[in-house]
Amino acid sequence: METLDIAFAEVRRYLASLDTRPVASRGTPAEMRAPLPTTFPERGIPASDVVRAIAAAADPGLTGSAGGRFFAWVKGGALPAALATDIMCSGWDQNAVLASTSPAGAVLEEVAGQFLLDALRLPSDASYAFVTGCQMAHATALAAARHAVLARKGWDVEAKGLQGAPVIRVLANAHHHSSVTRALRLLGLGSECIIPLDAGRTGMVAPDVLRQALAQEPQAATIVVLNAGDLNIGACDDFAALCPIAHAAGAWVHVDGAFGLWANASPRLAPLVKGVELADSWATDGHKWLNTPYDCGMAITRDAVAHSAAMRMTAEYLTSGGPVRDPMDFTPEWSRRARALPALAALMELGREGLAAMIERCCDHAAAIFDGIADLPGATGIARPTMNQGLIRFEAVDGTNISDAVIAAINAGGEAFVSGGSWDGERVMRISVCGWNTNADDVARTVVAAGEAVSRLR
Ligand SMILES: *Cc1c(COP(=O)(O)O)cnc(C)c1O
Repeated sequence: METLDIAFAEVRRYLASLDTRPVASRGTPAEMRAPLPTTFPERGIPASDVVRAIAAAADPGLTGSAGGRFFAWVKGGALPAALATDIMCSGWDQNAVLASTSPAGAVLEEVAGQFLLDALRLPSDASYAFVTGCQMAHATALAAARHAVLARKGWDVEAKGLQGAPVIRVLANAHHHSSVTRALRLLGLGSECIIPLDAGRTGMVAPDVLRQALAQEPQAATIVVLNAGDLNIGACDDFAALCPIAHAAGAWVHVDGAFGLWANASPRLAPLVKGVELADSWATDGHKWLNTPYDCGMAITRDAVAHSAAMRMTAEYLTSGGPVRDPMDFTPEWSRRARALPALAALMELGREGLAAMIERCCDHAAAIFDGIADLPGATGIARPTMNQGLIRFEAVDGTNISDAVIAAINAGGEAFVSGGSWDGERVMRISVCGWNTNADDVARTVVAAGEAVSRLR
């Protein structure tokens, strides 16, 4: 098919350009719109011309986020086997909702789920759902949590909803990600159900802080949300200390491990998340540190009964309940692509050793970039990476904070892409290394680019 040949050629061209193309997109909206019809076309356009037009429209607006010098937010490129498998998934166009709608989708997802639990060193009988991202992994796992903590109060939330239900309080690490808040909004609990747990500058909740919060209303239905890798400094809670405290009070512990949960896959980094397997649910991403293409989050729970009770539905025309797990019993979606397959491919391509090596390599590169940049005149290292995240502040000679200007200058230069944030009320530059393909040369180029930006701005 000519369309596929064109698409493959475009993907190859993009991937081959990653080393030389500016990491930030330089295209204007007008350039991206120009190759497209200005209004919805009356008559269809030949498929090959459509694919060419879309490629031409997208190209000026593509960032180099698949490459080795994109350090903003928390991104990672796609591993070769994961990318190729993702493309096959689109071609096969399977509806991985039931074992009967796609046996391949269901069986391969079971294998992916088992490998995932093994890789993350979580209980092998934990339930799992492959969802769109960590956002929906939170919504899915917290729906299971909502079910369980209300069932313990004799309330069936799936039947009765929240009207008249016992109140649920959510004790969350104050550095929790905004996606946790949105998941609680979607679940009808609202953002005000969150009671922040002070985590100071370390990003870690102290055992006494949790104890005191739990003791405030010992009878309340309680969910505790902890961090495995907060987005600023990669801080991880002391799960080994906190989980038993929460459990003694009858609470459900949910972990946001969007990227940080992957530390458990490395013997060197696993001590950072010691005891994480004691939690009741975990949310993580494939499209961050496992380096699958986007559209890959994972919700994992210890309580498969609560998980499926929160998600399962039945309809006369469905055939389910066979020897193979039906994915939809654990997901919030109906129809869905076979999104577990790229994750399976990534896990197989890396294996246990390769996964650990990739995680460790990213952390080493993050530390090297941090050390190189924090050494520049006017730069102050705020948080040296303990994992793969670091923070640096920049000052002009007169002491003004020029972090945002440095970030903008680095990004405009095209050699690397970084993002900003606030820490302790000050603007800072964030560095996040999540890509399998970042190498020592990328590190060196980034430090040089930062040095040029700083010397121009000071
Ligand atoms: C990225 C991120 C999320 C949200 O994940 P998505 O895959 O974008 O939905 C949640 N928590 C943390 C810590 C993150 O870094």
